[in-house]
Amino acid sequence: MRDLHVLIAGAGIGGLATAMALQRAGIRVSVYEQAPALGEVGAGLTLASNASRILRHLGLGAVLDDLAVIPGRGAVKHYRTGRTLVDIPRGQTQVDRFGAPYCQIHRNDLHQALVAAVQSADRDCLHLGCTLEDFGQDAQAVTAVFANAETARGDLLVGCDGIRSTVRARLFGTEDPRFTGYVAWRGLVPMERLSASLVVPDSAVWIGPGHFLTRYKIRRGELLNYIAIARTNGWVEEGWSVRSTVEALLAEFRDFEPTARSILMATPPDQCFKWGIFDRDPLPVWSTGRVTLLGDAAHPTTPFLGQGAAIALEDAMVLARAIVAAGSVAEALARYEKARVARANEVLLASRENGLNLTTTDPDRYDEETHRNEESLDLASYDAMTVPV
Ligand SMILES: Cc1cc2nc3c(=O)[nH]c(=O)nc-3n(C[C@H](O)[C@H](O)[C@H](O)COP(=O)(O)OP(=O)(O)OC[C@H]3O[C@@H](n4cnc5c(N)ncnc54)[C@H](O)[C@@H]3O)c2cc1C
Repeated sequence: MRDLHVLIAGAGIGGLATAMALQRAGIRVSVYEQAPALGEVGAGLTLASNASRILRHLGLGAVLDDLAVIPGRGAVKHYRTGRTLVDIPRGQTQVDRFGAPYCQIHRNDLHQALVAAVQSADRDCLHLGCTLEDFGQDAQAVTAVFANAETARGDLLVGCDGIRSTVRARLFGTEDPRFTGYVAWRGLVPMERLSASLVVPDSAVWIGPGHFLTRYKIRRGELLNYIAIARTNGWVEEGWSVRSTVEALLAEFRDFEPTARSILMATPPDQCFKWGIFDRDPLPVWSTGRVTLLGDAAHPTTPFLGQGAAIALEDAMVLARAIVAAGSVAEALARYEKARVARANEVLLASRENGLNLTTTDPDRYDEETHRNEESLDLASYDAMTVPV
């Protein structure tokens, strides 16, 4: 079923990957993004093998080769002593095991590559400054209604509009996202501000009581990205871009060993942000009629397995395959949900649980047995190009 016009709300990683997967299948898409200009926040993103495999399949392998960093090894460390609790082989080991690398990239580098690819297939398909407000549907079509009073008519509407999805609210009610009890700081540190000995191995995580710090290189190794997470009470702000100070961050991570603190200390003062981490309970269905959800709109996931964007990419690939395989929109969405809802909800819940594992396990008792990641949970082997739809 390729003779369709698909409307996509939201030009984040999920919306753009969906557009790209559909375009490659010969399906016409129109993407509507509320922001007047395109961009992603300045932060890193881990692409485990299940995610990088999709981007390679979509033709973005050269972008990953050029800009992403493949860590040779990873480590989980004790927050106070720096002792390695778990050593994790990455690099070629992951390629050998899963057929695609585990790599880390600047979110903006990936976002720009997706924008360029989608626009090169159809330079008129991206519509900026278009906030979806509502939609209506009947047996023939769906009509999206935007805040600027414009409308668009298509065969299918995919809500890729993030954790505060309007499409989700219209389909399933307006319950707010759930505050998870974690506040996170993120920072980007130019590598020239750090001595190389501080960044060994390539990618590392420190765990301590109620605290968790992860850091890895991105953009050809020019920048070090970190996320520092602390359990807290009563945080309510959600945006990614609330400014914080290095002093406040260091005070929160005062018990961490000198190597970890040196990295935090090297943060340029204008590069320190914090935000509250939210998720939602799993939904049993994502679609009604000609409208469905994808990515964070369907399953906003905590960062504790580094899988949120990965499952958005999986959704994108599987939805495109379901549309191609089906004889009607209803059949396509039934195939999509059957292939995806359980998988995405499993990752959402496993990520929630891993937050507790990383922040409440006594670090002196943390080892290979207690460690959970995309490999031990068998998430990395998922192949969105071949799973049955
Ligand atoms: C701290 C942190 C670290 C993470 N690290 C990783 C990681 O390492 N690996 C990983 O795989 N995932 C990670 N994730 C998860 C990942 O970032 C998200 O799951 C992913 O970005 C979701 O993409 P999306 O396109 O679904 O949503 P979004 O990126 O939120 O995009 C939604 C888009 O929709 C637009 N929009 C919203 N409302 C409307 C509307 N009404 N009309 C039109 N447009 C609208 C928004 O402006 C935005 O552009 C992390 C998340 C967090 C919080």
